[in-house]
Amino acid sequence: MAEQKRDYYEVLGVPKNASEAEIKKAFRILAKKYHPDANTNDKNAETKFKEVNEAYSVLSDSEKKARYDQYGHAGVDPNFGAGGFGGFDGGFDMGDIFGDIFGSMFGSSQRRSRYSNSPSKGEDIAYRITLSFEEAVFGCKKDISYSRVERCSTCEGSGAAKGSTPETCPACNGSGQITTQQRTPFGVMQSSRICERCRGKGKIVSRPCSDCHGSGYIKKQKKLEVAIPAGIDDGQRIALNGQGSAGENNGPYGDLVVLISVRPHHIFERDGYNLNCSVPITFVEATLGAKILIPTLEGKGELTIPEGTQHGTVFAIRGKGVQNVNGRGRGDLFVTVEIEIPKNLSKKQKDALNAFGESCDDVNYAKKQSFFDKFKK
Ligand SMILES: [Zn+2]
Ligand SMILES: [Zn+2]
Repeated sequence: MAEQKRDYYEVLGVPKNASEAEIKKAFRILAKKYHPDANTNDKNAETKFKEVNEAYSVLSDSEKKARYDQYGHAGVDPNFGAGGFGGFDGGFDMGDIFGDIFGSMFGSSQRRSRYSNSPSKGEDIAYRITLSFEEAVFGCKKDISYSRVERCSTCEGSGAAKGSTPETCPACNGSGQITTQQRTPFGVMQSSRICERCRGKGKIVSRPCSDCHGSGYIKKQKKLEVAIPAGIDDGQRIALNGQGSAGENNGPYGDLVVLISVRPHHIFERDGYNLNCSVPITFVEATLGAKILIPTLEGKGELTIPEGTQHGTVFAIRGKGVQNVNGRGRGDLFVTVEIEIPKNLSKKQKDALNAFGESCDDVNYAKKQSFFDKFKK
């Protein structure tokens, strides 16, 4: 069918020279606006949603975009034999894009069969857990409680009252679809639509289960203990298979997706599996060298700094970082020393320091010396 397609840039409302980020942003706004979840039974929105998806699948792919820019729709339309373009459903993973927009809803693939009578996987549920720095580093167990849709145990999801079974829908004979034929000058046109009587289920419940009122599903509060592995980091996710909501038509349960947030620590700053921290030292310690106390995950540790340590020097302590979340080894601890200049000196201390200063010469201050040598030139 050679229906006239709109320009993809026009569909997304972006200029031809729009950046990747601008294209993505425009797509997100439009996809959200026309998403089937927000526009139930709105044909126009559905068409728009498909159009927006199609435009984005091309413009977000540098190779397809280049072909489109050069040849227009012919460059990316499979009917023109350009190849490599598998239709917009296979173009990208919807889950990636919608994960952060719709919160509890990951991907829309399970939605496609909402009105069909084939089994579909239940919805994934997102659950955010906020951990202290230590809980993330050492791992912990968290008791959580969330609501999910479960299959009604009384009727085992059929929706029919005890002792009865759902009956085959007389309108569609159980297929869930009504097929109509129409004679036209070009031959017999066949079209099918979802059966309204059974809403595509193919079955009708005449005596509904009293627990779920015939839906076959019940919203329940689910309690779970989540094991958080040592080393997990802010922004990571843990998927618990089958702990999401029940699937339709006896389909499998969705997943519980635990989103991890980690609160910052007052001393350590995490960088992957490495830890950074700053430790103040006196200028006497820096000058003469010293054993100083440093914080480690296990408590107090000791670090020997050499004579003449400069401000900002970083010491690496191997294997004192965070446990790898897969159990393979630990990162390192990086200690940056900060020389603290003393304040509130007494007269006696100032005199001693002055005497010390006068005793110094160029050999004590190599950096200062070379700086002024360059400056003179
Ligand atoms: Zn029931
Ligand atoms: Zn029916």
